[in-house]
Amino acid sequence: MKKRLVVQGRLSDAQLAELRDLFEVAVLPKTTALDAPENRALLAEAHGIIGSGLAITPQLLDAARNLNVIATISVGYDNIPVDELTKRGIMLCNTPDVLTETTADTGFALIMTTARRVVELAEWVKADKWQASIGPALFGSDVHGKTLGMVGFGRIGQAVARRGALGFGMQVLYSNASPKPALEKELGAQRRELNELLAEADFVCVTVPLTAETEHLISAQELALMKPSGIFINIARGKVVDESALIHALETSVIQAAGLDVFEQEPLRAASPLTKMPNVVALPHIGSATHETRDAMAQRAVDNMRLALQGERPISLVNEETYQ
Ligand code: NAP
Repeated sequence: MKKRLVVQGRLSDAQLAELRDLFEVAVLPKTTALDAPENRALLAEAHGIIGSGLAITPQLLDAARNLNVIATISVGYDNIPVDELTKRGIMLCNTPDVLTETTADTGFALIMTTARRVVELAEWVKADKWQASIGPALFGSDVHGKTLGMVGFGRIGQAVARRGALGFGMQVLYSNASPKPALEKELGAQRRELNELLAEADFVCVTVPLTAETEHLISAQELALMKPSGIFINIARGKVVDESALIHALETSVIQAAGLDVFEQEPLRAASPLTKMPNVVALPHIGSATHETRDAMAQRAVDNMRLALQGERPISLVNEETYQ
């Protein structure tokens, strides 16, 4: 008998067909709560769940008595209780690597747009305010030759740093759980304590995962250490930053500008002061959102699921203990 899968995320027709060849597949719309009463019967029979932004709760796991594998179409898994899964012997697979370069592109786009005030000035042109050559009030700041401070120096952090060091001649500083000697050699990057990095960097770019340790890693105290000309970029998760403190720092010119792809509450509502500030570029969580990369992420999740349910080692397994 074919194993059963629940899909709640965007897969191509070819990817769905690939899964349907091997498994019984039920597709749930994103608008349905996975653990809604009408989905209980489906969950009770499911061996695998594949999707993005999956709301996995202990109640859902209680209902999903046959579950062996969750394949999230993301590298981050802060929305998933990994320890609870491991306790129940359920594998968690994610999609690292295939989204690294695209997410780093997004990070660098935010660095460029905030420093050179691209969004603000493009709006200014569209509003027919370009009546004469612009003056210093509308000048931006250089990116090349400046100091880039990476908070988190894993796959994405290193890819942003490569762009800065090799493309823009930037000095790279990083704060990270472990030292990265190979990158120090390759890019001339230097490790710093977080407080030192904040004080020295012109651009501070956050790429740590959201964990109990990193929640509100950046709050008022940390922002106060940044240069008044400093630009803050977050492409990790909104909750790594105390958003009220960030808003206050921007409103009171503690820092110059911010480029944000992620927020404490998503979708960000228009009522947020962040949407009104000309020195803030706010994006709708598009880190990995290109056709090519989202397709590659979905394929990685499909491959992980196929391998795991066939008893083979999935490509990207978060909780190694669950694989015998
Ligand atoms: P990664 O390779 O695991 O890198 C994370 C880095 O953070 C690692 O170098 C890790 O240190 C470091 N770290 C973890 N906890 C830390 C702590 N408490 N203090 C200091 N450093 C710490 O992950 P990645 O692939 O670069 O992805 C990073 C995050 O980006 C994901 O978790 C996700 O939340 C986010 N993301 C966002 C988007 C988006 O759409 N905006 C897209 C993709 C990913 P070690 O090297 O010592 O382990």
